[in-house]
Amino acid sequence: MDLPWSRASGHLKGVPMLSVQPKGKQKGCAGCNRKIKDRYLLKALDKYWHEDCLKCACCDCRLGEVGSTLYTKANLILCRRDYLRLFGTTGNCAACSKLIPAFEMVMRARDNVYHLDCFACQLCNQRFCVGDKFFLKNNMILCQMDYEEGQLNGTFDSQVQ
Ligand SMILES: [Zn+2]
Ligand SMILES: [Zn+2]
Ligand SMILES: [Zn+2]
Ligand SMILES: [Zn+2]
Repeated sequence: MDLPWSRASGHLKGVPMLSVQPKGKQKGCAGCNRKIKDRYLLKALDKYWHEDCLKCACCDCRLGEVGSTLYTKANLILCRRDYLRLFGTTGNCAACSKLIPAFEMVMRARDNVYHLDCFACQLCNQRFCVGDKFFLKNNMILCQMDYEEGQLNGTFDSQVQ
C-alpha cells in the first residue's frame, strides 16, 4: 500500500499582532479597558491593546517588543518561548520515537509524524521527493524499490500488518 504524505508544519500557529496608528474614534484597550491615547496601539485577536497591556501571561514580557506574533491557548496569551515551554511538542517521531518540538517541520503520513531527517527509506536511506511513493510495512518506511523487492523475495509475507 502506498500512502499519501505531506510536509506540514507543526501545530504551532501564531496570531499576528499589528502596530497601528489609531484612526477615528478612540479605542478601548482589551487589557485594562481604558481608552488608548497613545500614538500607536496594538491590534491582535480582533481587539485593541496598549503596547503595555499586551503581555505574556507567564513572563510578563511586552509582546509587541519581542515579535509580531503571539500565541494563545486556553484563554492564555503567551509569548513564543512560553508557549513552546508549555505546549511545545507535535508528538513523537514514528521512526526514532523522540519528541518533535512544535515549531519544527514534520512529515505526516497517515497517523504518523516524522522528523524531516527521519523520513527516509529505512533500508536504503533514500529520501523522498514530492510525488515519490513510500510504503509502510510493519511500521517501517520503505521506498518503492525496497518494498517491491521485499514482496518478490517474500520478506514480508510471514509478517501480517
Ligand atoms: Zn491597556
Ligand atoms: Zn512569556
Ligand atoms: Zn525522528
Ligand atoms: Zn529503499
